[in-house]
Amino acid sequence: SEAKVGEQQQIQNKKLSQPAIFIPVDRSPEIQEARLKLPVLAEEQVIMEAVRENPCVVICGETGSGKTTQVPQFLYEAGYASGSGIIGITEPRRVAAVSMSHRVAKEMNLSTRVVSYQIRYEGNVTDETKIKFMTDGVLLKEIQKDFLLQRYSVIIIDEAHERSVYTDILIGLLSRIVPLRNKKGMPMKLLVMSATLRVEDFTDNQKLFRTPPPVIKVDARQFPVTIHFNKRTPLEDYTGEAFHKTCKIHRMLPPGGILVFLTGQAEVHSLCRRLRKAFPFRKGNTTTDEEADTSEAMRKFKKAKQKKTSLPRIDLDNYSALPVDEGDEDREAGIGDEDDEGSDLDIGDDPGDAEEKADPSIPLYVLPLYSLLAPEQQAKVFRPSPPGTRLCVVATNVAETSLTIPGIKYVVDCGRVKKRFYDRVTGVSSFKVTWTSQASANQRAGRAGRTEPGHCYRLYSSAVFGDFSLFSEAEITRRPVEDLVLQMKDLNIDKVVNFPFPTPPSAEALVAAEQLLVSLGALKEPPRTGRVKEMEQARLSCPITPLGRAMASFPVAPRYAKMLALGKQQDCLPYVISVVAAMTVREIFVDLDRPAGSEDESSKLTQRRARLTQMRRLWAGQGASLLLGDLMVMLGAVGACEFAGCTPKFCEENGLRYKAMVEIRRLRGQLTNAVNAVCPEVGAFVDPKMAPPTEHQVVCLRQIVLAGLGDHLARRVQAEDILDPKWKNGYKTPLMDDPVFIHPTSALFKTLPEFVVYQEIMETTKMYMRGVSAVEAEWVPELLPQYCHFGPPLESPQPWFCSSSGTVRCHRSSTFFRVGWQLPAVEM
Ligand code: ADP
Ligand code: MG
Repeated sequence: SEAKVGEQQQIQNKKLSQPAIFIPVDRSPEIQEARLKLPVLAEEQVIMEAVRENPCVVICGETGSGKTTQVPQFLYEAGYASGSGIIGITEPRRVAAVSMSHRVAKEMNLSTRVVSYQIRYEGNVTDETKIKFMTDGVLLKEIQKDFLLQRYSVIIIDEAHERSVYTDILIGLLSRIVPLRNKKGMPMKLLVMSATLRVEDFTDNQKLFRTPPPVIKVDARQFPVTIHFNKRTPLEDYTGEAFHKTCKIHRMLPPGGILVFLTGQAEVHSLCRRLRKAFPFRKGNTTTDEEADTSEAMRKFKKAKQKKTSLPRIDLDNYSALPVDEGDEDREAGIGDEDDEGSDLDIGDDPGDAEEKADPSIPLYVLPLYSLLAPEQQAKVFRPSPPGTRLCVVATNVAETSLTIPGIKYVVDCGRVKKRFYDRVTGVSSFKVTWTSQASANQRAGRAGRTEPGHCYRLYSSAVFGDFSLFSEAEITRRPVEDLVLQMKDLNIDKVVNFPFPTPPSAEALVAAEQLLVSLGALKEPPRTGRVKEMEQARLSCPITPLGRAMASFPVAPRYAKMLALGKQQDCLPYVISVVAAMTVREIFVDLDRPAGSEDESSKLTQRRARLTQMRRLWAGQGASLLLGDLMVMLGAVGACEFAGCTPKFCEENGLRYKAMVEIRRLRGQLTNAVNAVCPEVGAFVDPKMAPPTEHQVVCLRQIVLAGLGDHLARRVQAEDILDPKWKNGYKTPLMDDPVFIHPTSALFKTLPEFVVYQEIMETTKMYMRGVSAVEAEWVPELLPQYCHFGPPLESPQPWFCSSSGTVRCHRSSTFFRVGWQLPAVEM
C-alpha cells in the first residue's frame, strides 16, 4: 500500500543520512514487510544517533515492539560488527537467548554460525559469529576471563526491567568497563533495554553513571484490552479456574488465540493435559510407561553387607581446586529459571473435567511454553496454528515479556508468580507462589492487544489487584547473597560493599555472606590484629581462596559447593553429587501430610503413607548409614529410582515426585561435568547403577555434610537443662532462642542424636529441622575450626574469627560459637 511504500522510503532516507558504514542485509520481502510494522523501526535513526554520541543508552519499549530482534540488526547494519568486535546481547532467560538468536538469523538471512547463542553448556558460537545472544550468567563468566570484554564492540543488556541479579551485576560492571575501554582507545557501547519505563535505578544513579544515559522511548501500537476481574478470588485451585475460563472462552467467544499465565512447568503441563482432554485435537499418542523392576531396585539398594572398620576421616585440605588459568567451562551462575522449579503436588487425575465436555468441532491447539521446554517445542508457538483450530498457549511468565506470541486476543491471568524466597532464620531459599505485581499483571494483559483489541480475564478480584505491589522488587533485595558475593570475589571484586549495584543488597546481608564464605574457607580469613577500623575494612574485603574459586565454578549454593569440593575423598564423589542434587531440588517426596479430599482418597493416602514410611526406613538403612539420616534417605531414593530407570511408575509407587527425580538426574550430569572441569583427574561419571555407599563412605559423607552445613549445627538439650517443658526433645541452634525439633517423618526421629546438622528449618506446628544428619562431637573442632573457640572458654566470646589455622590450634578444649558448647579436646 501507499503508506507502506512511504514508510519504506522514509527508512531508506534515514539509512542514507547515516554517515557510518552501512553493511547491507539481504532480507526476504515477507520479513521486511513484518519488520516495517514494528514500532522500534520508526526510532532507528534516533537510537543509532544516541548510540553514536553516548557510551550508554537506555531503550524502553513495550514487549513486542521489536527491541530484541531489531536493535542488534540496527547495530550490525551500522557496522558495529564489521571490525574485530562483535555484538553481544544478554537475556536473563535461556529460552529467549536461544529462540531470539534463531529468529534474528532467519530475519537477516544469515547462518547460525554468524548469529549465534551461548547458554550454559550449550551454544553454536563460531569464529564467524557477529551477533551473539547469551544468558547474563555466561557474560558474567566471560568478564572473569577478560575484564575488558575485548571481543565485543557493543553489549546489549536486554530485559533489564526483570531486575535479575546477574543483569544488575552486569550493569554495575559495565558502568566501569565501558569508560575503561574508551579511555584505552577501544571504544565500546552499552545498551540497556527495558519493557517498562521504570529505569530510574539505572539512569538516576550517581554511583552507576556520572552523566545519566539518554532514555529512548519506543511508542508501541497497543490496541485496547478490556479487563475482566473475577468476582471472587480462588485461593487454591487457580489452575482449575484457569481451565474453566479457557473452556468458556473457547466455546463462546470469537476466534483469536488464548494465552494462559500460570506459575510453573508442572501447572502448565497439568492444564495442557486437561485442555487436550476436553478439546481433543488429534488422538493422543499416549506412551506406556516403561516397566520398572521395582523389587530388584529395592533389593539392590538395601543396605549392603558391611564390615566394621575404624572410623575414617575426611581431610579439609584435600579439595578439588581449579588448576591455575584453566577450566574453560561456560555456565550460568544459578541453576534453572524460577519457573522451572516445579512443585507438582497434585497426584492422580484432575477432578471435575466431566462437566466441561465441549463441542469438539473446533479443535483447540494447546501448546505449553516455559523456560526449559525443548527449543523445537518452543518454536511451535511462533508458527501459525493448523487451519481451523484455535491456538491456546499455556505459559509461565516467560510469555510476559521475553517472548511475543503472535495472534493472541485473550489472556487468562492467574495473578500469581513463582518466586524464590529467602528465610533469614533458616538461611535457605525456597520457591513460593505469590501474587504478582500490578506492573506484571498489566504486562500480561497487554499481550492480548498486540494485533487487535483484546480481552484479559483476571482470575482474581479488583480488590485483590488493588493490594498487589506496584512493581516487582529487584531480585537482589529478596535473596541470599553468599553465592553472588562468591561470584564477585571470583571476578576479583574484593570490596563488594563498594560495588555500584543498581539496587544494593542490605549491608547486613553482605556482611553475613562474607562471614559465611570465610568460614567455609572460600575467602581468606581477615587479620585479627591491627586497628579496629582497618580490621573492619579487611573483614569486608576478603580475597578469594583456591577453594573458593573451585566452589564458584559449581552451579550450587556455597554450602553445597563446599561439599562438592571435598567430595572426591574416599570415592565419595558420586554420593556427594547425588545428595547435593537431591538437596537442591526441592520436595523430592510427595506431600502425604496434606488432608485428603474424599474418603476414597483418604484410604489411598493412608496406603501410600504406609508405603512411603516403609520405603524411607529401607532407604535409611541401619547402624552407620542411619546416622546420615534424611540425607541417606534421599541418597537411597535417588539410587533406587535410578536403578529402576527413573520411571513415573516407580516414583508413583514409592512416593517420589517424578519431576523432581528427573531434575535430579539432569543435575547429577551437570554437577559431574562441573567437578570434572575443576578436577579432571577424578574422572567423575554418572553411574545409573550406583552401588550403595559402604559404611566407611557413609562416615565420610557425614563429615563432608558437616563441613558444608557447619553453620546449621544443632544440639539436643540435655535432660538436666530442661526447665521449660517446651524444650523436651528440643534442639538448640546457635542463632535462635526457641527450640527446634526433628520431624516425626525424619529418619532420626527416634534416634535423637546429640549433634545434628540440618538443611533448613520449616515452621509448621513447631519449628522443624528438615534434611537432618547426625554428626559426632569430636568432628566439630576439626572440621569447623572457624566456628570454634579453642583453649579455655573466653570471658566474652567473640562470635567470629577467633581461631586460626596454625598457631592457636593445639588446645585442650574447644567450644562452639556463641553458644559455648563444650566440645571434646582436639589433639593436633
Ligand atoms: P521486544 O523485544 O520489544 O519485546 P521482539 O523483538 O521480541 O520485541 O519481537 C518483535 C516481533 O517479532 C514480535 O511481533 C514477535 O511476534 C516477532 N517474533 C519474535 N520471534 C519470532 C519468531 N521466532 N517467529 C516469528 N515471529 C517472531
Ligand atoms: Mg525482548
